[in-house]
Amino acid sequence: MKNYEVEKMDYRKRIALIAHDNRKHDLLEWAKFNRELLAQHELFATGTTGKVLSKELDLEIARFKSGSLGGDLQIGSKIADLEIDIMIFFWDPLEAQPHDVDVKALLRISVVYNIPVACNRASADFIVSSALMDEDYDRILIDYEKRIK
Ligand code: PGA
Repeated sequence: MKNYEVEKMDYRKRIALIAHDNRKHDLLEWAKFNRELLAQHELFATGTTGKVLSKELDLEIARFKSGSLGGDLQIGSKIADLEIDIMIFFWDPLEAQPHDVDVKALLRISVVYNIPVACNRASADFIVSSALMDEDYDRILIDYEKRIK
């Protein structure tokens, strides 16, 4: 019996970009290097990350609240609604955040909905250089409902 659904990802991906303060510089450098590629997709970000990136890259980025004010949870909600395909999330491995529980929730929900997630530059490079970036993709969604009933 099939225990999964398939969610079609369009060739134009909906990408969420998030960076904690100590990682914003890193994300900005990475995004500048990949600007032309990012410009072909639909971009979302938490408040301050989005502000910095849209100004520096001159790209349209839909912005949510700042992470510490619920922005991570807003992106998590978009993932659960199947409205985000990829997440680039440079979280700070050396500093606790006031909203660490939200960070954990966001990372958890990205696993539940099986979206590609990069938490460092090498992973982000591998994701954006994948041939699947320019293609439709059948993303498998495990039917967890069967497990929780
Ligand atoms: P920011 O939020 O983009 O508003 O800084 C990111 C985060 O803290 O998760």
